[in-house]
Amino acid sequence: MERHCYDVIVIGGGPAGYTTALYTTRAGLDTLVIEKFSAGGQMTQTSQIDNYPGFDEGVDGFTLGFKMQNGAERFGAETLQAEVLSVKLNAPVKEIETSVGSFLAKAVVVATGAEHRHLGLPDEEALIGKGVGYCAACDGMFYRDKTVAVVGGGNSAAADALLLSKICKKVILIHRRDTLRATQVYHRPLMQAENVEFLWNSSVKEILFEETVCGVRVANKLTGEETEIPCDGLFISIGRAPETALFQGQLAIDENGYIIADESTRTNIPGVFAVGDVRTKAVRQIVTAVADGATASHFAEEYLANHK
Ligand SMILES: Cc1cc2nc3c(=O)[nH]c(=O)nc-3n(C[C@H](O)[C@H](O)[C@H](O)COP(=O)(O)OP(=O)(O)OC[C@H]3O[C@@H](n4cnc5c(N)ncnc54)[C@H](O)[C@@H]3O)c2cc1C
Repeated sequence: MERHCYDVIVIGGGPAGYTTALYTTRAGLDTLVIEKFSAGGQMTQTSQIDNYPGFDEGVDGFTLGFKMQNGAERFGAETLQAEVLSVKLNAPVKEIETSVGSFLAKAVVVATGAEHRHLGLPDEEALIGKGVGYCAACDGMFYRDKTVAVVGGGNSAAADALLLSKICKKVILIHRRDTLRATQVYHRPLMQAENVEFLWNSSVKEILFEETVCGVRVANKLTGEETEIPCDGLFISIGRAPETALFQGQLAIDENGYIIADESTRTNIPGVFAVGDVRTKAVRQIVTAVADGATASHFAEEYLANHK
């Protein structure tokens, strides 16, 4: 019996994946979304999203993810709850091997996202949303007039510290080296901000908390001295890890692990598109992820029309 071949398989059911599916199904394309956990992706880790338009009082990430899934399924998108284990993308018919079997598609949209790197400290996972955050643009507003610590020394830590300095009473930037790795553009404004303090040559050993974060224990690398620093929040800004291990050797990937794709979302393989946080781009947010979904659908439709 001939195996079913989808027009489009979307790998990942975050905002980029389900927006792709919403657009492809509305365009009449037979679409399967494969998601290993639950709809919504990273959004499900936050209970308050205030910068996704249309929700004047904000929305929690789980609800928004569920609404995005329902929206796509209303037009016929199918969801398979399974983990994609390997892919064969080079042939015109692409094969996706999952934990529950293998599936075929004429076009594939990679929407596997990126995870903020974690420090791996005890209690870190349990305190996410209770003082531990990874995205100052997302959660900074919850710390208005409070004291926060930021860990990291690269561009994302510098940008986060600068943004938080405009909201918070005090920002303590904790970096394991004696100078920032961030580009020069951040140095002067950070040094000049009166409410930013620097803890150089230091690393966080422990997160202190009662119900929520109340401080961090920091060790100085040079002296070995350990100090307890009171703070209301801890932002861990040590970069992101894109979920691209599956695609190594097939898709072009940059030195940071992101799939190389421009605003068209096309990758180096015809018929394969990359959307959302997983692709090379400047701003990784929900609105940019959903925008990619619409774009990928447009170019997938064009690709399928030319490769019947
Ligand atoms: C705590 C937190 C708070 C945030 N707050 C905001 C905010 O307020 N506003 C905002 O705009 N942005 C916010 N963001 C960022 C936003 O969530 C991301 O930019 C957005 O989710 C990216 O969407 P995506 O679809 O590209 O990827 P993701 O959301 O990462 O979704 C990828 C999906 O792919 C699935 N997947 C990965 N690998 C596989 C596989 N092998 N098989 C099957 N499925 C797979 C994952 O399970 C996941 O569901 C926040 C992020 C975090 C972590």
